[in-house]
Amino acid sequence: MNFTEKDVTYPRQRKVKYVFVTGGVLSSVGKGVITSSIGRMLQARDFKVTAVKIDPYVNVDAGTMNPYMHGEVYVTDDGGETDLDLGGYERFLDLNLKKENNITTGIVFKAVIEKERRGNFLGRCVQIVPHVTNEIKSRIRTVAKHSDVDVVLTEVGGTVGDIEGLPFLEAIRQMRLKEGYENTLYVHIALVPILDITREMKTKPLQHSVNELRRIGIQPDIIVARCTKMINSEALRKIALFGTIPENAVFCSYNVNTIYQVPLILDKQGMGDFICRRLGLPQRESDYKEWTVFVNNLLDPENEVKVALVGKYAGLEDSYISMNEALKIAGATCRTKVVVQYIEAEKFEKNPKEVEMLRNFNGVFVPYGFGPRGTEGKIMAIKFARENNIPFLGICYGFQMAVTEFARHVCHLENANSTEINPNTPHPVIDLMPEQRGIENKGATMRLGAHKIIVKPDTTAYTLYRNREIYERHRHRFEVNLDYLARMEKNGLVFSGRSTDGRRMEILELPNRFFFFASQFHGEFKSRPGRPDPEYYGFIKACLDKKLGKTKPEFR
Ligand code: GLN
Repeated sequence: MNFTEKDVTYPRQRKVKYVFVTGGVLSSVGKGVITSSIGRMLQARDFKVTAVKIDPYVNVDAGTMNPYMHGEVYVTDDGGETDLDLGGYERFLDLNLKKENNITTGIVFKAVIEKERRGNFLGRCVQIVPHVTNEIKSRIRTVAKHSDVDVVLTEVGGTVGDIEGLPFLEAIRQMRLKEGYENTLYVHIALVPILDITREMKTKPLQHSVNELRRIGIQPDIIVARCTKMINSEALRKIALFGTIPENAVFCSYNVNTIYQVPLILDKQGMGDFICRRLGLPQRESDYKEWTVFVNNLLDPENEVKVALVGKYAGLEDSYISMNEALKIAGATCRTKVVVQYIEAEKFEKNPKEVEMLRNFNGVFVPYGFGPRGTEGKIMAIKFARENNIPFLGICYGFQMAVTEFARHVCHLENANSTEINPNTPHPVIDLMPEQRGIENKGATMRLGAHKIIVKPDTTAYTLYRNREIYERHRHRFEVNLDYLARMEKNGLVFSGRSTDGRRMEILELPNRFFFFASQFHGEFKSRPGRPDPEYYGFIKACLDKKLGKTKPEFR
């Protein structure tokens, strides 16, 4: 690889600082939460931040990945189908990120190969270093340029030592050469297990992962030990010694009741001040006023509601992570603990009597979904909620299933269905959007991202959103078939939100129920601590008010 003189200069002071986060020992140690927490600590000191997630898999984006294996697909305003960590960043940091904040091996290689085909490399042999690494660096810098921030956080997915992560680690290693020592910071997070028998905190796996990182040429500046408990001084000393960092650069992310406490516990250990000092940022007092109110509301609720989440990917909680967080966030606003129980919809199909169990819940929630499995069970759950006046919220597929249920059981359209489930249904109440016909590629071809919705006055939707025009995020191919609109409206279903041309149904509600509400869009993607999306707030408030015996929900 050919460094030019320009590449190795150390600029004295640049505006943007870069924090790179890597992980060791094993995945799922909470790298995403710690990355978000670093951002939160900086924001608490009034610095502007953004975050980038690097996913070393070869997929171009998360859009074609099965949520059951990889967790939910997070949708950005600009229609990106991204890794779920972007959802964590958006919630922690109250940001609206873009597609470009998620970089994958697929997207990098695609770009490099397209440039090669265009002849942009002028006959040179195209290589991982420098061509792929340059592409990675330029993408991280592009985010910096577009976001006007003080600090860009970049989290490298996977674990140090993974083959597919190497080009990314090489790229972030090189970034220090150009950006300068004082503008770059490497944070390494690794698990410190506690042995059952001896109760000892074992730092050896962490030491190995730091060594692995050094072999690549990265010496961490900060090490975060992920441990069930606060690490003891002996473990801390060992980590500092073998990690070749001062003891005050070692922090511990121990188990807490809610992930939203993580910035608070790390900051208390001095991490926020350390990062600012190390990056040459002015030292400022941190302000967690609003954040603490939110965390306290979560930790110290006055009430509790139980919500049945009737879905298809119930076995993996990450499949519904944003929905789950949105429900909890709405709960905090209502000073109410939300206990979410995941129920496999197929259970009701196998034994229809099981649906009676929904009586034990304060609300029924039907989430997004694809394909036929479990849909009849979801319809049974919705019917039960409607007939028994249990508060109901349906999102996307949940909205489409609510329409189907209403068509079948109230409008008497026998075997009504979505053509996604039964292409030969006599009553295709949910059908493919016209612009979707003929599309064959699965990636990035749905109706995606934020679109404007017109809200009808004098409806629950209007009471909740308090606005005639709202923007919410979408991810779907199917929609309400307008041929059935009049019949459904005549029977009492109100479509209280529509696209700007009025042809796309976005919100439905049943005025004669305590709370029966569903949306084609996904309010969970816009829910933020202290600011739940109105449909989630409405649902939880309704669950609570019904439980408290009120005759109708009392929205703020
Ligand atoms: N499968 C449905 C559609 O494509 C719903 C999608 C979803 O729930 N996100 O329209």
